Amino acid sequence: MVRELNKYCPRCNAYTKHSVTLYKKNKQRELAQGARRYKRKKKGYGSQPKPIQHNQVKTTKKQTFKIRCSKCNYQRYMRSIRLRRVDFI
Ligand SMILES: [Zn+2]
Repeated sequence: MVRELNKYCPRCNAYTKHSVTLYKKNKQRELAQGARRYKRKKKGYGSQPKPIQHNQVKTTKKQTFKIRCSKCNYQRYMRSIRLRRVDFI
């Protein structure tokens, strides 16, 4: 993937230079509603609510790229695609 792309910016309403970075998942909040619910369900004997998946079939991972307009700093995401590995040129 290239570090800079010429893309359409909806805020500038024009084609501008965008910087490209890889999207990375942030740390999950411990006190989010889903995390609290899951923690409560996990309590006690034999209480794994959903089976844990061990054998992965897919050999690639869905990657998402973040693009940021160089003029107005408007950030958005590109459509995620399956890639074996990501290299920035
Ligand atoms: Zn812009």
